[in-house]
Amino acid sequence: MRTPYDNQSYYYDLDWRRYIFDGETDYAWVSDHRVLAAVRGILSVSELSETDKAVYDELEKFLIGFDYGASDYEKAKRVYEEITGRAVYHEGKCVQADDEVHSILIAGTGKCVGFARTYKLFANAVGLKCGFREDGAHMWNGVYVNSEAITIDASTVGASADFYLWRMRAVCPYCGHENTFGNREAGRPCGNCGIQIQNPKYN
Ligand SMILES: [Zn+2]
Repeated sequence: MRTPYDNQSYYYDLDWRRYIFDGETDYAWVSDHRVLAAVRGILSVSELSETDKAVYDELEKFLIGFDYGASDYEKAKRVYEEITGRAVYHEGKCVQADDEVHSILIAGTGKCVGFARTYKLFANAVGLKCGFREDGAHMWNGVYVNSEAITIDASTVGASADFYLWRMRAVCPYCGHENTFGNREAGRPCGNCGIQIQNPKYN
């Protein structure tokens, strides 16, 4: 199956031994570059490992009938709902498989690294730019919606796509500048004049 992104530029980094589709977000310590390369038609599916092939098959199923013309927001939401709908966080002792996309898609469980890798892979496959975020103990994603990196964490129990992706716009009453709030921000200085304004959601 071909996608609208098959002809997007990429290169093979000989030091990292990886296909790099986006120089800004692909140089992370985990990567599923071979699966994405197969999706884009760069690698033959027969060159994939057994586990990568299983991931590839699941991703291809997800892509059947996918609306590539949807907005970034809708795509980011669709990917989130696919992953959270098929996997639950593994509460037990960490095992190697928890960090793998294969576990999320096939076993239906894993830990944050597995969820974040799956989110990036699926987001990239539908044409979204997406990176990893981490603080040493936890990993999540920054997905680009209309060129803005938005925090999203598919491993959080009981959250929703809208919780992460939803943005409230508020016009500054003093200078008229349009400010954008994240879902969890109560207030912040106006990006233009600096006066403190509140997120309308909380007022
Ligand atoms: Zn202002």
